[in-house]
Amino acid sequence: MVAFKDAAHRGAAIAESCLACALADYRKVQIFSSVREAGASSRKSGKRRVLVPTMGALHRGHGELIRIAREAAGPDGEVAVSIFVNPLQFAPGADYEKYPRPKKDDEEFCRSAGVDILFRPSAKEMYAADFSVSVEEGFLANTLEGKSRPGHFRGVCTVVAKLFHILAPRAAVFGEKDFQQLAIIQRMVRDLNFPIEIIGAPTVREGDGLACSSRNRYLNQAERQQVPVLRAALLEAQRMAAQGERAAPMILDAAREMIASAPLARIDYLELVNAETLQPIDIVRPNSLVALAVFFGQTRLIDNIRVP
Ligand code: AMP
Repeated sequence: MVAFKDAAHRGAAIAESCLACALADYRKVQIFSSVREAGASSRKSGKRRVLVPTMGALHRGHGELIRIAREAAGPDGEVAVSIFVNPLQFAPGADYEKYPRPKKDDEEFCRSAGVDILFRPSAKEMYAADFSVSVEEGFLANTLEGKSRPGHFRGVCTVVAKLFHILAPRAAVFGEKDFQQLAIIQRMVRDLNFPIEIIGAPTVREGDGLACSSRNRYLNQAERQQVPVLRAALLEAQRMAAQGERAAPMILDAAREMIASAPLARIDYLELVNAETLQPIDIVRPNSLVALAVFFGQTRLIDNIRVP
């Protein structure tokens, strides 16, 4: 099987009439949109499958998760990516309708990244009109994002549990950018005995520190210029803790002040928490985390950093 360096290389192969090679490469991703077909492929696969659940509009952050999944799958394993904008995890009036869905670009992204299986169901395919069972984590989900977005993690846990059943992976990769989500999925897998290893992946950033996110494309030019303040504020919190500051209010005030220097920023939350329990703490101890959610206009961005 020929692996192309990039789209230009593939294009050149087609131009040079190496159509067979080009088609062979294109055929590599199996795309499923029905639960039945995806489930059948899982049952007959027999390979070590590693899953990367996403909502699409794929970017370098997702690319890194796919790379880690490929490594975890091994040479004989397979990488599955799911793309599903899950209505259950959006509050009414949130950005569910306008969430980007660049279907062709995502398909191409998966091809170039060497994904084996792409599962891309519709909402109707995933949820029966009268569906009435959901999965709820009852401790970690009560702080940070869970407090700001009631019901969000019920939506996340429910869809991830469904994806785990449908695609039957041995492992799944989640980003540390969504730190609370990663912790909750680990808890769900532990408490409900899913035989699935959960792998955390470090946050991928733009050159100026902004965490890559599908929602970054909502930012207008003025907002885009100001968003690096989030990373700067988190680094400042980390620096203060590394230099011996232990008091949460001191650290958080300094970070808050930096964020306030960006006139378009509006803080939703900025908290110091224990990285395991996600409960707010007053004093920095080993395994602490500063997490934030900040609006720029309508766009809500989240990020976090370990301290000290
Ligand atoms: P999403 O498509 O935003 O739901 O994200 C799908 C997965 O990609 C989640 O596990 C996210 O934590 C992860 N992810 C999103 N952005 C990044 C990033 N910048 N770096 C690493 N992982 C990310």
